[in-house]
Amino acid sequence: MRTVRSETLVRGTVQGVGFRPFVYRLATSLGLAGSVRNSPQGVVIEIEGEAKTVTAFLDRLISEAPPLSRISSLETADLAPAGLGEFRIIESAPGSPPAALIPPDVSLCSDCAAEITDPRDRRLGYAFTNCTNCGPRFSIVLGIPYDRPETTMAAFPMCRRCEGEYTNPADRRFHAEPIACPDCGPSLFLDGNADAAALDRVAHLLAGGKVVAIKGLGGYHLACDARSAEAVEVLRARKGRGQKPFAIMVRDLEEARRVAAVSSTAAALLISPESPVVILPAKRDSGLAPGIAPRQATVGVMLPYTPLHRLLLAQSPPALVMTSGNLAEEPIEHRDEEAKRKLGPLADHILSHNREIAVPCDDSVVRCTGDLVSPVRRARGYVPRAIPVEIACSPVLGVGSHHKNTFCLLREGEAILSQHIGDLDTLEVLDYFRQAVAHFERLFQAKPGIIAHDLHPGYLSTQYAQSLADVRLVPVQHHHAHVVSVMAELGLAGPVIGIAYDGTGYGADGTIWGGEVLIADRRDFRRATHLRPVRLPGGEAAIEHPTRATLSYLADAFGPLEGERIARHLMPALTDTEARVVMRQIERGVNSPLASSMGRFFDAVGALLGASPIATYEGQPAMELEAMTAGVNDRVEPYPYAIEGGIIDTRLTVRQVALELQQKVEISLIAARFHETIAAFTRDACRQIRAQGGPSDVVLSGGVMQNARLLSRLLGLLEGEDLTPHIHWEVPPNDGGLSLGQAVIAAARSES
Ligand SMILES: [Zn+2]
Ligand SMILES: [Zn+2]
Repeated sequence: MRTVRSETLVRGTVQGVGFRPFVYRLATSLGLAGSVRNSPQGVVIEIEGEAKTVTAFLDRLISEAPPLSRISSLETADLAPAGLGEFRIIESAPGSPPAALIPPDVSLCSDCAAEITDPRDRRLGYAFTNCTNCGPRFSIVLGIPYDRPETTMAAFPMCRRCEGEYTNPADRRFHAEPIACPDCGPSLFLDGNADAAALDRVAHLLAGGKVVAIKGLGGYHLACDARSAEAVEVLRARKGRGQKPFAIMVRDLEEARRVAAVSSTAAALLISPESPVVILPAKRDSGLAPGIAPRQATVGVMLPYTPLHRLLLAQSPPALVMTSGNLAEEPIEHRDEEAKRKLGPLADHILSHNREIAVPCDDSVVRCTGDLVSPVRRARGYVPRAIPVEIACSPVLGVGSHHKNTFCLLREGEAILSQHIGDLDTLEVLDYFRQAVAHFERLFQAKPGIIAHDLHPGYLSTQYAQSLADVRLVPVQHHHAHVVSVMAELGLAGPVIGIAYDGTGYGADGTIWGGEVLIADRRDFRRATHLRPVRLPGGEAAIEHPTRATLSYLADAFGPLEGERIARHLMPALTDTEARVVMRQIERGVNSPLASSMGRFFDAVGALLGASPIATYEGQPAMELEAMTAGVNDRVEPYPYAIEGGIIDTRLTVRQVALELQQKVEISLIAARFHETIAAFTRDACRQIRAQGGPSDVVLSGGVMQNARLLSRLLGLLEGEDLTPHIHWEVPPNDGGLSLGQAVIAAARSES
């Protein structure tokens, strides 16, 4: 028998996920001696015992690691045997270096879910129950290391029984930092008054059609009965939300199946520890109020992810609207006083609690159609999980886009993407952005000297970057950043063919881009093929008035006079004055920048086919256009198009769409053939590049890729070629993923 001693550094998400107690139990069960402790790099394990047993220990360390942990590497160094007698968990010393990684918030686990409904359990009905495998994490962390005193749970001294669980390595709450029970933990308040029966009362209020502001994990929601058309209308009007869809929270998976088509992939997402809102194909006659998702064929559904929500939904109506509690254009409310002031007028009642939210964090959103998953918003449950990036570089900050902002901190071989911040249109959001950047720099102990930003001079994120002193600025083209965000997520170094289809992004030539096929690596890119540019009357204002884009595409395809005639004929809602004024503007090029935007092309055709002429949120006409294709299968012919000299000519397509509309061909078929056309010319553009010796990897990004029909057709067509398509898995293809691409490009350019 040979005794060995070694020290192992475990890197990855290994703190705050029950890793140390797991190591303790494993080591003691094998009769090994040594210790385990948190370090700035991860978890350090010292182990001593028989050589064979130590090897078995290291194997099982990987194969039996706790469900929420993610081991990225093990580094083992041999030490001289020291005759250690026992195995110990070493506490983080005060003032010790920072925790390597703070885990994301985790949805209620099955053990805790069973306890809160068990009449014999002391946590029966307790809304703040959690354990080592579930509960709040990122949203309650004030500082580092990740230990109770550095969370908002520091305000609640543990009772004797909780302390017993917390300090017992055999207990499933050993070192569960947010541990709590009805005797010592947070409690509920209804309209400002402590109320043990608050959940019963709120369930009744919701059943009675009231709107209630509810404080949850990462902020406040506004909730109402999702089957009450009246309540939903009241909420929509009070929130001033236009037609943007509301997410709903349903009681259980069965209820989700009642309102939507839930594939096995979708079900797995719904019950995952991340527990995002999953956008699903909506069922007809589900009983949901029509005002939930006007003119859409989808519905965003989530399951109760905290004990508070689980207990509420058990008694309330089985489907509740759960929309972020904020005023339009402001961040989600998370402080009680502000919530009272701002949400008070929108809600009939306020359900709050006294556990403070340190970091506001919206619900994450993914779209799932069959097996196809497409991330839309990355926040609660995912942030701050790191993405490994193999570039040796000093810390970099990517400040992100103006819309759907996130930022990205890159350091020591990993990129940490922030939660969804929002549109940087108001001072409130800009403040939130600044605070979140400062919080990340503290938590992850990085002071970035390299700042990556978009080329757009008007983005407030760009202006923020330019206001920083003693940093090196790296301007990054918008669509290059989109392409590299996919590469980073999948660990591709390139070169790749990068398809970046979105609304608008500042081009390297100063015009608006957005229908781009690039050849790119992590440092540079070449614009290989792009959509034929058209005038965008009013520039950004064309987003709100999609008929302007329609007029522009008709003018391009038919000339201004004929284009105007066709527009008036096909779009009765268009007034003569509007048509004439906009056409004049296009002809003269007044305040009408050139744009090769795929998003606007979808808007233009959407509005022509009868989508809402006013877009109350970005991409509304394009989403309505996709919804029009419901029920039409994949086997439709594309419309004609041409690709010449790197330009995709859409004039033939637009002429044919207009012709078929005049011939009264079914709208759903025209919409489907339009989608097929985009997929077909994209495949052809890639084929041309490949034929000239270009790369075979194709990455797909940009907000337009949230269109499930287009994405699935693109994948189908590209897989039939000598090409390998890649899509986002966790990082959104829209501007929410931009900062990751920015940071990686700046790092690659600065690599030592
Ligand atoms: Zn639990
Ligand atoms: Zn307690």
